[in-house]
Amino acid sequence: MAFLKVDKVSFTYQKSNIPVLNNISFSCEKFEFLSLIGPSGCGKSTLLRIIAGLIDASSGKMLLKGKNIDGPSKNISFVFQDFALLPWLSNLENVKLGLAYIDMDDSKREKIALDMLNKLELTGFEDAYPNLLSGGMKQRVGLARALVSNPELLLMDEPFSSLDELTANSLRATVLEVLKDKKKLPESVVMVSHNIEEAVEMSDKIVILSNKPTIVKHIVKVDLKRPRDKGSRDFRRTVDRIYSLFAD
Ligand code: ADP
Ligand code: MG
Repeated sequence: MAFLKVDKVSFTYQKSNIPVLNNISFSCEKFEFLSLIGPSGCGKSTLLRIIAGLIDASSGKMLLKGKNIDGPSKNISFVFQDFALLPWLSNLENVKLGLAYIDMDDSKREKIALDMLNKLELTGFEDAYPNLLSGGMKQRVGLARALVSNPELLLMDEPFSSLDELTANSLRATVLEVLKDKKKLPESVVMVSHNIEEAVEMSDKIVILSNKPTIVKHIVKVDLKRPRDKGSRDFRRTVDRIYSLFAD
């Protein structure tokens, strides 16, 4: 049984009546890092929101460990491209929001949130407000909020694309470090990216989407050894291969 199964998902925005997703199917195994890449406007964000249970597919279904995803779930967390932090709450309070729907004492919530902020190198910034932080640190808060509930599945929509390249690199490394611990959740990740290098650096599997109405063009397994050396011939060759599949 696949960890996450996306099964013949189609979607049309009612307002425009233009089909966006056309019969999308793929699966993500336990401990797999899967990236979705595709042209701008092809429906990557829409698809990720459908998997999160935030919007309903027009047809098709998604299964997490064999169970239908039919609405938001505490087993699934989301990281947004623009961070989506609440500016009137402190960083600690923003992270605690990730536990808002989990029944526990507030003191326990606070302890878990503080531990996660510490793990993501934000110690000392607990009581500051998000607007005082750099983009990279804001996304660390966004990531902390997503991870604090121990989700089985982590969804990330272009999480590094509003950061400069150096900051993005350091945050990618942090995410890969967090995921290395297989005893801890999340078990699997689905990330939307428009950056082929980033997808090759991070993923075990890359799903390449077409232009609208969007179908799955290719599914490519990336079995390069980790940590990945972006300068190596194998890495470059994989990037080139994905580029040509993307463009064909
Ligand atoms: P991507 O993330 O791949 O760039 P999106 O999922 O954001 O693509 O959007 C897919 C398509 O759906 C685009 O053509 C976009 O204009 C359209 N779209 C996105 N959101 C809405 C909406 N709320 N109502 C109508 N159309 C939308
Ligand atoms: Mg998008």
